[in-house]
Amino acid sequence: MILFELQCEHGDRFEAWFRSSADYDVQAAEKRIDCPACGSANVAKAIMAPAVAARTRNAPPAIAAEPATPSPAAPSQPVAAGGPDLAKAMQLMQQIAREVRAKSDYVGPRFAEEARKIHYEEAPARSIYGEASTTEMKELAEEGVGFHPLPPLPEDRN
Ligand SMILES: [Zn+2]
Repeated sequence: MILFELQCEHGDRFEAWFRSSADYDVQAAEKRIDCPACGSANVAKAIMAPAVAARTRNAPPAIAAEPATPSPAAPSQPVAAGGPDLAKAMQLMQQIAREVRAKSDYVGPRFAEEARKIHYEEAPARSIYGEASTTEMKELAEEGVGFHPLPPLPEDRN
């Protein structure tokens, strides 16, 4: 038996068991699967959440530094793909990212410069966030300047 998440032409989502993937194909082709919400027989496998990349190609990732609590830098950014649980986790991360931003000074593209000043105590310790290139993040990590990658927020893509 195999469980598929299906979606009708009106966007209703529901789950249905099939003997096999081929069994689903036959039933779908013969329009024998009805949407329990609206009765439509035009159903297809639901589109799963798209892969969520840790960074977009054009916008450099927003990152935050908190000099008070240095942590080991993570130069590689894990990428995840998945279902509703992942979407919830991403929402939670975005919530945290919003809080971090609210409590930090925005330094924009000068992030690497400002993070270094704080690290070398040339500037008062404070929380900052901004953008850094992959090269800058690598250099900061090598110098032991602590920072955390922040997940991109939907409003960043505007
Ligand atoms: Zn429906």
